Amino acid sequence: MNLPLALLEKAARENRLAHLLLFHGGSALQQREVALRLAQILNCSQLSLEGPCQSCSACRKILSGTHPDLLWLKPLKTTIGIDQVLTWQQKLYLKHYEGNYKVSVIEHAEAMTLPAANALLKVIEEPPERTIIILNAENAEGILPTIQSRAQLVFFSNLSEETWLRGLGEVDQQDADRAFRLSGKNQNLATAILEHGVPSLQDWLETFRTAVEESDFLKLFSLFPIDKNQAVLYLQVMAVQTQAGIQKGTIRPFELLAIGKATEVLRQQVNPRLVIEVLALELFQQGGALCD
Ligand SMILES: [Zn+2]
Repeated sequence: MNLPLALLEKAARENRLAHLLLFHGGSALQQREVALRLAQILNCSQLSLEGPCQSCSACRKILSGTHPDLLWLKPLKTTIGIDQVLTWQQKLYLKHYEGNYKVSVIEHAEAMTLPAANALLKVIEEPPERTIIILNAENAEGILPTIQSRAQLVFFSNLSEETWLRGLGEVDQQDADRAFRLSGKNQNLATAILEHGVPSLQDWLETFRTAVEESDFLKLFSLFPIDKNQAVLYLQVMAVQTQAGIQKGTIRPFELLAIGKATEVLRQQVNPRLVIEVLALELFQQGGALCD
């Protein structure tokens, strides 16, 4: 069950928040803001009905990112590996420095490798006292089911395109529209597309699609070099397009599986060019057109 934000705050006030929360949907920024607010509610020394005071030492340290009981875990490059989780875990079991509660936020939790996720599971099974772990994820589906089932899910709804645009400042309206459409209305992805540049992304995808349709390996060569971040972005947009194609019945589900697998492999520090070539080969062999 998804918990609305107001109930989440109420639970934090009453010290009966679940040990493990899974934030999904919305934007990374929204999720981070709510995580910080919960950390404040749990640690503020002058908590009132309006919420945390924002002026006590705990509130200020949490906002400035200097509170010793607030721990962040983020991907190094593209993944959160087992070593990172083990180091984090040691800090988690140390006694509290000054806060009532330790709060630990794992950003891009879907980027945890399988061994890392399994190490997290062990922590969840023996939760350190007065500690809340918050997983921030784009999709709950990206999180291991055994972790998901132990978490309290909190869903963030997507902002409208208008609100997203307002947060961006000066941008080309036409590019922004296209980026929003290409992202399947996912603001984080739309922002990444916009930063990358919409025309060059569309060119790349178009070339990839034609190369696959025509089983033309030479055409494929013109797509390189690309770096890993580009490759991850292209695969994400491909996945959105493919998902839409499956819903329309113009694309067979194996293509989405192939793209998902490629994304997974890319996260394991494999050469991005190799990943894209293997994906193209797989789509050649299935005789599949990538788009309608
Ligand atoms: Zn305070």
